Amino acid sequence: MGVYNAYMSLSGAIEADVVRNERLSRRTTYRIGGPAALLVCPHTYEALLKTLEVLREERVEWVILGRGSNVLVSDRGYGGCVIVLGREFSRMNFADDGTVCVGAGMALIKVVTEAMRRSLSGLEPLAGVPGTVGGAISMNAGTRHEWISEVVQDVVCLRPGMGLVRYPASQVEWGYRTTSLPTNEIILEVTLALKPGDHAKISADIEERIRRRRSTQPMGKPSCGSVFKNPGDRSVALMIEGCGLKGYRQGGAVVSGTHANFIINDGGASANDVIAVMTHIHSCVQEKYGVDLQPEVKLLGFGA
Ligand SMILES: Cc1cc2nc3c(=O)[nH]c(=O)nc-3n(C[C@H](O)[C@H](O)[C@H](O)COP(=O)(O)OP(=O)(O)OC[C@H]3O[C@@H](n4cnc5c(N)ncnc54)[C@H](O)[C@@H]3O)c2cc1C
Repeated sequence: MGVYNAYMSLSGAIEADVVRNERLSRRTTYRIGGPAALLVCPHTYEALLKTLEVLREERVEWVILGRGSNVLVSDRGYGGCVIVLGREFSRMNFADDGTVCVGAGMALIKVVTEAMRRSLSGLEPLAGVPGTVGGAISMNAGTRHEWISEVVQDVVCLRPGMGLVRYPASQVEWGYRTTSLPTNEIILEVTLALKPGDHAKISADIEERIRRRRSTQPMGKPSCGSVFKNPGDRSVALMIEGCGLKGYRQGGAVVSGTHANFIINDGGASANDVIAVMTHIHSCVQEKYGVDLQPEVKLLGFGA
């Protein structure tokens, strides 16, 4: 009843897209996943507040989804509400001092491209990372050694029921694909401090990074990028390769022959197929290298 009541309260009443039983395979780069019982895409701050208020009253759990480029959704879907930040959260404003204030719903690639156009340096390591700014902050996205946190000045989050909280970057603990930002808060806005640079150099750096991606990653095949985190300085892709698992398949999920830490959806893969491949990789690497691999991909809808 909670989800139905929430739908009835929100649909048509706020500036938002409100949908029941939205297939999450349409909302993830994996193209995998059952339906979300409810999906709300609020286009204004007020609509977001109202959404959270109704979900609390109706005791509906919720989760934030960006572009779904680091999420594996279960085949049966998610019984709560998926919130996707809409229009008002997709703005960016560049100031004269090189800082840029960006809404969390903005596509990261647009910020990288606009910074390059303005000859501002700092976002080059993010070139080619799909997803939103909010997702990138939540994941502290980047390469193995260069993360978005290096250019973050502060982050504004919404603490449900409490209001806005501004976190200076220095007060956040940033790690490899982790942050200490509370997981029950919604990242709404980020200020990035970029530095004036040489346009030709920035653009060459970006081009080179994209070229490298194209030659080392299975472009054009649905995936979530790297499935496991690299343990310390070791390369998980080399370990998986060392176990002879390139091409290993369960149903439609296959270990990429181009990059062994990518499990691709080769057509019709289910979430269970991906989990079966992940489980096999985990036990092979544990056995051969004694390493307990940790997933980088976030799982949604697998709970009891
Ligand atoms: C082909 C490919 C290549 C990739 N390469 C890289 C790479 O080089 N480096 C890298 O770091 N990642 C990479 N990724 C993974 C992914 O693109 C990043 O993790 C990205 O930052 C996720 O952004 P998203 O908007 O898609 O977030 P989602 O996948 O939608 O969500 C990821 C997590 O962030 C949370 N989240 C999203 N938005 C918010 C918000 N506003 N507030 C609070 N929490 C939020 C979600 O709840 C979830 O826990 C790659 C993925 C693909 C498919």
